[in-house]
Amino acid sequence: MNVLQQRRVAVLGATGSIGGSALDVIARHPQRYRVNVLTANRSVDAMVKLCRQLKPELAVMADANSADAVRKQLEADGTKSRVESGSKGLIEAAANDLSEIVIAAIVGAAGLESTLAAARAGKRLLLANKEAIVMAGPLLLAALAEGGGELLPIDSEHNAIFQCLPLELQQGAARAGNVSSADNGVTRLLLTASGGPFRGRTADQLESITPDQACAHPNWDMGRKISVDSATLMNKGLEVIEAHHLFGIAADAIDVVVHRQSIIHSLVQYRDGSMLAQLGNPDMRTALAYGLAWPERIDAGVAPLDLLAVGRLDFESVDRATFRCLDLAYAALRAGGTATALLNAANEQAVAAFLDRGMKFLDIACVIDETLAAIPCAPVANLEALLDADLTARRHAARIIAAKLS
Ligand code: NAD
Ligand code: MG
Repeated sequence: MNVLQQRRVAVLGATGSIGGSALDVIARHPQRYRVNVLTANRSVDAMVKLCRQLKPELAVMADANSADAVRKQLEADGTKSRVESGSKGLIEAAANDLSEIVIAAIVGAAGLESTLAAARAGKRLLLANKEAIVMAGPLLLAALAEGGGELLPIDSEHNAIFQCLPLELQQGAARAGNVSSADNGVTRLLLTASGGPFRGRTADQLESITPDQACAHPNWDMGRKISVDSATLMNKGLEVIEAHHLFGIAADAIDVVVHRQSIIHSLVQYRDGSMLAQLGNPDMRTALAYGLAWPERIDAGVAPLDLLAVGRLDFESVDRATFRCLDLAYAALRAGGTATALLNAANEQAVAAFLDRGMKFLDIACVIDETLAAIPCAPVANLEALLDADLTARRHAARIIAAKLS
């Protein structure tokens, strides 16, 4: 008899959009998975609720005051979860022996060190935190090799590409981030983009966009930062960089096509003229279920795709002149070294200024462009050098933002 061994899961960023989808999939398979570690930033009530419900051994709040508040409430009702805080706590949550599977779903550079720690600890790493691989692709792959674990891409495009590879290449991608195109027949990767909420608009029509308009994505329900990235198309730019690292494919062999229905999640082109695609309803639970169970398939709670209801699949090219962020990302990828970390840092600062301080939507691309033009990129020596570059870019972007807001 095949007895299933329950695998323990750490969900980093448990209170977010991806975190919630992951917990939903896990709850459908109590015999296979147990949630043992949870992390969040400041969402005290949401974390307390999750701890009462799931009783993880460890709960980490990045913010120390929030950790105190969670600890107090859990002590009051006898919930036994240990509560820790800060970046040390996040790294422990990612790397200690309370889990075999780590879901990296913190948003932004804040997730970098825990993602690296999970890779180095040899976990099965389900990577949603794309900013980590954009900033530190080579370091993350080195940590993965050192730890001997596996990386399963959760971003829907990369998960689709992974699904369109034969098992042998999947194993290579999961262990070493390398699907070298020389000897395996893969010639191109094609990432699909919905085009975001502003597809078809001119730059003039984007002058007075508000944060709520930018966050109203037509097909996906996501956190606010990635929603703005989708609206500027920086999300696709980050994904091109992510695909380069995950699959070892050159920038020139990665294309983007607008596909407004978000039904085809991406495609792999092979030497013989074949193109393989993965299709499904736009719901991140499919990718999460795939990452949890690979190479098996488990129920994700996602309805099967009804092709007749979808009716048609449309494709068009990206308006690169209006949505400048995509080319800024390609340029950073081609520049190499710290350039993609500089790009990511400037983008995070600019998106925050748009969401919280009234900076104009179109200024997001300007802030990134000006930051990249001002700061020379360098080879990535180590994590310290990378964090240094990140900080320099943030400071520079902050000055540009202040000038734009004055
Ligand atoms: P979200 O904003 O909904 O959730 C973010 C999570 O990270 C929350 O649990 C929050 O508490 C935590 N967090 C935020 N700041 C933190 C900090 N400084 N330190 C520690 N924890 C912090 O974001 P999301 O939409 O779930 O996205 C998470 C990641 O997944 C992002 O990198 C995003 O690009 C990627 N992703 C998301 C989707 C999606 O459909 N939402 C799809 C593909 C990839
Ligand atoms: Mg994506």
